[in-house]
Amino acid sequence: MFRRKKSSNPVRKKVNFDKRLIDRDALKVVQTIAKAGFEVYLVGGCVRDLLLDLKPKDFDIATNAKPEQVNKLFKRSRLIGRRFRLVHVMFSARKYLEVATFRSGQVKTAKSGVIVRDNCYGKIEEDVVRRDFRVNALYYDVRTEEVIDYIGGLEDIDSRQIHIIGEPLVRFEEDPVRMIRAVRFQTKLNFELSNEIKLSIYQQAPLLSNISPARLYEECIKLFHNEYGFKVYERLEKYDLLKHLFKQTRKNDFIKIALNNTSNRIKRNKPVTPAFLFAVFLWQAQNERYQLIKQKQRSIYLAMSQASEEVIINQIKQVSLPRWLTARIKETWMAQTKLEKMQPKKVEDMLASKDFRMAYNFLVLRSQSINPELKPVADFWTKAQVGYKPEDIYSERRKPRSK
Ligand code: ATP
Ligand code: MG
Repeated sequence: MFRRKKSSNPVRKKVNFDKRLIDRDALKVVQTIAKAGFEVYLVGGCVRDLLLDLKPKDFDIATNAKPEQVNKLFKRSRLIGRRFRLVHVMFSARKYLEVATFRSGQVKTAKSGVIVRDNCYGKIEEDVVRRDFRVNALYYDVRTEEVIDYIGGLEDIDSRQIHIIGEPLVRFEEDPVRMIRAVRFQTKLNFELSNEIKLSIYQQAPLLSNISPARLYEECIKLFHNEYGFKVYERLEKYDLLKHLFKQTRKNDFIKIALNNTSNRIKRNKPVTPAFLFAVFLWQAQNERYQLIKQKQRSIYLAMSQASEEVIINQIKQVSLPRWLTARIKETWMAQTKLEKMQPKKVEDMLASKDFRMAYNFLVLRSQSINPELKPVADFWTKAQVGYKPEDIYSERRKPRSK
């Protein structure tokens, strides 16, 4: 066990940003805790985003009140976590805010260097140094409208840089997920990574294989379900991190177009599902496997099914996929053969099937990237949805093209 150096002499700086970006419930929680006499701040990514005029995804709150004390202040709150207790203050079935008590820098690491225990309460200056990056370790005092900066986070916001807190090799060893977080923040914020982060990532990338596939699944959604997913993909590849998440995936135009399509959907508030992206990432590997199995297996259905199963089993060793999601991936792949056949008698059934939409989008993006020969097939299904009868589409396709 070692005690991480604590920081002292903070900078307190009055800051100006659009206050309407602060979540009203977060303000209420902070005010209630402050009124009860405790020290309390907004902390982490939300402060960073507010200073950059970005709308924060979530609001984290840090305080010197113990979890049990926070719990008593809010009727609709609950204590969670066994190793490190936190309080969730509930606002609706889907919305809660997390309140954490300052944690000390005391961490217990395993032989591999990975953190196994990080659960002692501490002071704010200790809480600062257990965080990952300097830009993520800013505290905002709602009452004085000041940001409290112990380690140069404000400077980094100004110079648009990401620096790690402490020794990068050690911090990445403690928690290798910090490497993919660095790449995500670099891209989201359009910041530069410090040279020591870059060098350490190359060295420590293989440690990602020690992280549980379930945690990496959550991280993957954060990596790619946003407005800049393809840039993140390219950078993960550049830093040699991608192969520790998707060892069967190689970059191609389908992946590029699908990630950009997902980003556009998010910009337009349209729904997205991780099943689609995983189906895209693994499609080429599935195809290669299918081609091999088909040489021995006469049933296309069985060959497809076996290839899908094998590729997914390989994937979940790195990044786990929930069952419902693997089922949708397989259905999307299987539907491609059916869509490509364009059998008139099956059109109605295909259109009515619950998987049609995703399979159709998948086909359209294939036809716009790696399979241009499928353009007429994609057109066929586009028309089929707007009320064309199959006979009309077939006869139209047989007509010579007018000039
Ligand atoms: P965003 O919510 O935009 O993804 P964030 O910085 O708020 O970014 P969260 O995962 O919400 O990220 O975490 C909140 C804060 O908790 C971070 O800003 C950081 O201070 C701290 N934190 C999160 N994950 C780690 C980690 N793996 N190691 C150290 N500190 C972390
Ligand atoms: Mg956050």
